[in-house]
Amino acid sequence: MLKIFNSFSSNKEDFKPFESNLVKIFICGPTLYDYTHVGHARIFLTYDLLCRILHQEGIQTDVLVNMTDINQNVFSKAKEGSRSYKDVSTYYAKQFVTDLFGLNIKSVNRLAFVSDYVPFIEKYIDKLVQKNQAYIARGNVYLDTENMGDYGKISGQTQLQLSLHYLDIGPNKKNQKDIMLWNCSDNFDVSWDSKFGKGIPWWHIQDTAVALENFGNNYDIHGGARELVFPHHEAHLVQYALLSGSSVPVKTWMYVGLVLSRNQKMSKSFGNVTWIRDLLQKYGQNLVRLYIFSYHYRNDIEFSEDDLMSKKPILDLILITKPKTGSKTDKEIESLLDDFIHALHDDLNSPLALEYVNKICNQINEGKKISTENFDMMCNILGITI
Ligand SMILES: [Zn+2]
Repeated sequence: MLKIFNSFSSNKEDFKPFESNLVKIFICGPTLYDYTHVGHARIFLTYDLLCRILHQEGIQTDVLVNMTDINQNVFSKAKEGSRSYKDVSTYYAKQFVTDLFGLNIKSVNRLAFVSDYVPFIEKYIDKLVQKNQAYIARGNVYLDTENMGDYGKISGQTQLQLSLHYLDIGPNKKNQKDIMLWNCSDNFDVSWDSKFGKGIPWWHIQDTAVALENFGNNYDIHGGARELVFPHHEAHLVQYALLSGSSVPVKTWMYVGLVLSRNQKMSKSFGNVTWIRDLLQKYGQNLVRLYIFSYHYRNDIEFSEDDLMSKKPILDLILITKPKTGSKTDKEIESLLDDFIHALHDDLNSPLALEYVNKICNQINEGKKISTENFDMMCNILGITI
C-alpha cells in the first residue's frame, strides 16, 4: 500500500484515491515569464516519480498543471519587450514543455492557461457573492473567512495566527485574513472587464476555477512547492470546498522541499538560478533524475554541480549492469526488488530505493541474475533511459 505524507493531517497516510484505478493530481504550474530552474524541475520530477510508481501498479493518472499567464511579472516582461502578454506567456509555455520533455516527464497530460478561465472565475466569484460568502469592497472582492473551519489547517495555523498576516490589503477589507478574489484596486498593465469592475482575478481563485472546470468536485492530490501552502493553498482549499460542496475536495496535500543555492531559495532576484535546460545539456536527464531522487522530496536540497556529479557512480553502475541482464531473476534479487518498491511506497523514499538499486547492480556484477524485464521495470520507475 502506497503511503504519502498528507500536510492536511500532518501524517503519513495510506493513500486511497477517490476512484480505485485513477489518481487525479493538480500541480501548481509555472508563472510564464521565465525558464524552468532546478527547483521547478524537482517539483515535476517528484510527481512524475509518483505517477511512474502508480503506473507500475496498473493505476492510471490524470495530471493537471495550471499555466499562470495572469500575473504582473508576465505583464512586466511583455512591457519590457514591447510584446503582448500572450506572446510572452506562449513563448515560456513552449519552453516549459520542452523542459518537461528534456526531463523525460510524460505524466503531465493537461495544461490549463489561466486566461482561458476568466469567464469561469467571474462566474464562481459571483456565486460566492450571491451566497454572501464573499463581499465587494470598493471594487475588490474578498472571501469572507469568518467560520471557515478548514482555513489554516494545511499550514497548521489558528484563526488568530491567520489574522496576523498582512494579506492582500485593500480599501474596506473587513478582516485581515479574508482572501482576495478579484483585484480592482492595484494598477496592472493588463486587466479584464468583469461585473465587479476592471481588474484581474487573484492568484488563488485562478487555481480553484481551473480545478473545478477540469476535475469537477474533487481530486486526489494537490502538489507544488512547500512555500505555496499559505496563503495560496489555504485559500484554494476553502474556496474549492465552498464552490464544490465537498467536505473533502482534495484528499492529499503533498509538498516538495526547496532547492537552495548558496543557502537561499533559487530565485532570479538572488542571482543564484540554474536553469534546468543547461544542466540537461551538460549532464543528461538520467544523472539529473538520480541527483534529485537521491534526496527525499520533502527535504530541502542545497544545490551544487559537485553534489550532482557525486551521483555519477550510481548511473555508471546502472549502465554497466544493463548488458548483463538475461531471462531469469534470482530469489535474492527478487527480494531486493521488493525492497526497492517498498521504499518508494513509503512516502517516495527514493534515497533508500537508490540504495537498493546500488545493491542489486553490485550483486548482478558479482554473478547474480536479473531478467531484462525486471531491470527495465526498475529503470522505468526512476525514468532512467538507457
Ligand atoms: Zn497554484
